Amino acid sequence: MANDKSGRKKKNPIVTILAVIVILIGSAFGVWELGDFLPSDTTTPTTENGSPNTEQATKPEVLVDGALTVIMIDVGQADSFLLIQDGKTALIDCGTRYDGDEILAFLNSMNITKLDYVFGTHPHDDHMGGMQEVIQGIEVGKLIVPDVEKGKVTSNWYKSLEKAYVNFDVVRPKVGDVYKLGDATMTVLGPIDTTPSNINNYSTILMVSFGEMDILFTGDAETSLEKDLINSGVNLDAEILKIGHHGSDTSSSDAFLDAVSPEYGLLSTAIGNKHDHPIGEIMDKYEKRGIEIYRTDQSGTVTLTVTATDVEFSCEPGDYRDGIEMAKEEGKWWLVIWV
Ligand SMILES: [Zn+2]
Repeated sequence: MANDKSGRKKKNPIVTILAVIVILIGSAFGVWELGDFLPSDTTTPTTENGSPNTEQATKPEVLVDGALTVIMIDVGQADSFLLIQDGKTALIDCGTRYDGDEILAFLNSMNITKLDYVFGTHPHDDHMGGMQEVIQGIEVGKLIVPDVEKGKVTSNWYKSLEKAYVNFDVVRPKVGDVYKLGDATMTVLGPIDTTPSNINNYSTILMVSFGEMDILFTGDAETSLEKDLINSGVNLDAEILKIGHHGSDTSSSDAFLDAVSPEYGLLSTAIGNKHDHPIGEIMDKYEKRGIEIYRTDQSGTVTLTVTATDVEFSCEPGDYRDGIEMAKEEGKWWLVIWV
């Protein structure tokens, strides 16, 4: 989620200073609590206590026999998807470094004691920050993470995660690799360029296929990787698309949406995130194409029950409001003007 400068507005420092003064005065007079004004990014709390909003999830008490269950876990401005088919499990991304415990608790609540696969799409905090806690807290079959050039990611959490890799037989994703998840398959389609300059374009691209249904997971892939995928000639057609990069305008190019032609989009983002995701022009694209979108900032955790020919969602589709509209209308207008 870094490197998306084009998705940001220019912030006026005077407006910001005025906002800070208003906030401090308001706090002094008890109009609001200072803590309400903490900036939001990967740490955006989605419940009052700051934990991922998994409570309101429509957790499948009983998984539908024979179906593929996909759970978009609400980890705020981050990604984490749990897939279950015929007792086999896969986790694609692990939220931020503040989400690992909550994800483990969520898995525990579903009586999941082993993850057959854990994928980290790319080493940004909002995708792999929670990975160390997850892989150290539950039995893991295969750990599949990108082979990022040494020294390219310098964050402490990542260095610590890399050290934890020694206890695992780490697998590096390669285009064409296929992993079985019960009767579903997970096929690696990208990245095509294995040493991109932008970390987002290291994102592992996974096509999950079950019967006639396909779900495309894209991490934070930006338009250059979308273009590489199109040029590779691989079939990108999918009924369900994980909307790239939290709805940033770095992703969801027209050519890519043409190639995937999804009926449904999955959007994982938080109200009041500092990038203003999702971006309005991107939401317009999905609306104009008639693609129903399901979003964690509106519905919390979302469960998909995928059969061989269809999909059922645990909630109604969301609307196409962008990040700024969401923040304003949900009473978090101050986050829009935050630096
Ligand atoms: Zn991200």
